Amino acid sequence: MTTPVPALKPSRFIKPTVDTPYHIDFDWWTKASRDLRVYLKSHLCDVHREMYAEASADPVDWVDAHTAEVKPIDGILYELRTHCSLQPDYIHDLTSVVDAVFRVFMVNDNQPMNPRELGKRIGKDPELILRTISGKTVYQGLRPALEGAG
Ligand SMILES: [Zn+2]
Repeated sequence: MTTPVPALKPSRFIKPTVDTPYHIDFDWWTKASRDLRVYLKSHLCDVHREMYAEASADPVDWVDAHTAEVKPIDGILYELRTHCSLQPDYIHDLTSVVDAVFRVFMVNDNQPMNPRELGKRIGKDPELILRTISGKTVYQGLRPALEGAG
């Protein structure tokens, strides 16, 4: 008789709460074969959206605020961080929860934040944010930031 194979990997699933840190899982984008650049473009201000409607942008060197590491980032992300995110309507009342949360992570170098902190940033109820991003469906790669991962 063969012995049952023990589960070597403990489940990494933890029930998220308003204190669970989230971030954008860029692997999700790769695995889902979604076009991140198209989605990024949807967050540009009107001027830049028109500028990049047909064009792509060259990578730009970006200094990570937390590690001081210089790494190239997508030129569209660069425009978002240095211009569009500074416009008063970058996150407004009608921005969906998913878009608003994504916009926060795009400009903060994807530093994990929990729904409580996100709620303060985007002016929405933390419970609503949690319900939106903790469901079975992963929206735009928004996932819990697991300890020690990545
Ligand atoms: Zn802009």
